[in-house]
Amino acid sequence: MTERLPMFQKIHYRLTFLCAGITAFILLAMSCIYLYVSESGLKQNQFLAFQRDMSTITANFEQQTIFTHEWLSKIENSNSYFITVTDNGVPFLFNERNGDAKRKTAEEEALACYRSGAAAGTANPLSDYNSYHREFEFTASDGEEYYACFAGIPRENGTIEVLILSSLTGLRHQIRTQRIRFVLLDIVSVALLALFSYFFTKKLLAPIEQGRREQNEFIASASHELRTPLAVILSCASACEKASPGEQNGFLSTIHSEGRQMSRLIDDMLFLSQSDAHSFPVNPERTDIDTLLLDSFEAFEPMAKEKRISLSVSLPETAVPSCLCDGERLKQVIAILLHNALSYTPAGGLVLLSLEPEIPESFTVKVIDNGIGIPDEEKAKIFRRFYRSDPSRSAKDHFGLGLSIALEIVRALGGSIRIEDTPGGGSTFLVRLPYSRAKI
Ligand code: ADP
Repeated sequence: MTERLPMFQKIHYRLTFLCAGITAFILLAMSCIYLYVSESGLKQNQFLAFQRDMSTITANFEQQTIFTHEWLSKIENSNSYFITVTDNGVPFLFNERNGDAKRKTAEEEALACYRSGAAAGTANPLSDYNSYHREFEFTASDGEEYYACFAGIPRENGTIEVLILSSLTGLRHQIRTQRIRFVLLDIVSVALLALFSYFFTKKLLAPIEQGRREQNEFIASASHELRTPLAVILSCASACEKASPGEQNGFLSTIHSEGRQMSRLIDDMLFLSQSDAHSFPVNPERTDIDTLLLDSFEAFEPMAKEKRISLSVSLPETAVPSCLCDGERLKQVIAILLHNALSYTPAGGLVLLSLEPEIPESFTVKVIDNGIGIPDEEKAKIFRRFYRSDPSRSAKDHFGLGLSIALEIVRALGGSIRIEDTPGGGSTFLVRLPYSRAKI
């Protein structure tokens, strides 16, 4: 596994934190809103249910003439209420049924709360003729919350007053459970979101990081390639100072040839950087491919002769239709392939340049050699920038950029390039291009 660049590691963590943070914030905000709405609704419904219940109980009290312990206990137990009844201010014996101090305090406090409300004019005034009931919410001094109802039922000989308390512990418990569930759900969701963000941002950054890594490698390789001719130039220049005029000429010609080499390397690098920025120009025009192949063949004949390699060209016997593509760029590709074929084929070898039209769709240019060949594991790698199968074997003017330039050009022309083994040994490069669909 390739080691991550520290800068990207930092960006990755920051992006993960940002993505997870934003989504977690939205999730938490939505949870809070949901809880608020749901709890308000729950409380409202519970209070309405309590009010309805109190109307029924008050009506029952109106209808009853005798209030038995049994009847009162039944109301209490079936609804978990606390009931206190007074007749003309005299407490019922029922009120003493258990000596629960907590309950007693709550009842007294609820009564005080009601009376203070009545005193302030917020409660229904006592009417001599109609029964009434008033519901309110209050919190006892021990912190427990209640719904309370104070009802007055007028009788011929006075008023029956009833205080009913309903503890909100059940409701609070329900709300607390709901909140805990949401907190747990949110924690799990945030953890999952963080995990998702981690992998998502990693995937998102991978191509950018890869691009940066390739750029770094490119700069490192380029500096390395430039350093060698530069070192030769510098040493020649310093040797020149002490050399005789005859020797000086030799040094000067070395300086010139190394300078030309550097300039060619810089041109190649500029070309690749332009292709990365999609800014190298492609000029499609009507091109006679067979003429173009013959020109390329003629250009490399002297090199083939010098290397004692048999270079030949094979064209279809029938006329080949012209194509709409950038002839100069195509020539550049063929030149790279022929130059390689002649460089990696030993003396006495064969190199063949051929054209195979697949009318009307496309045509294929083949550069076939019976040279040293390319092992299968190298076939994909040789298109990488500055890649040379065996750097020590390559001639001085081979920087490992030729095939990457060829690949960029063929892609820009809308075609493809691939390698095959030549039967009997050597390599065959196939460039397939569309007749008229060159990308512009
Ligand atoms: P270079 O400038 O080194 O030739 P290229 O990008 O053109 O760079 O080629 C990359 C590598 O692919 C070469 O160093 C060489 O090892 C291998 N290669 C390219 N063409 C051939 C060929 N026709 N036969 C054998 N090996 C080849």
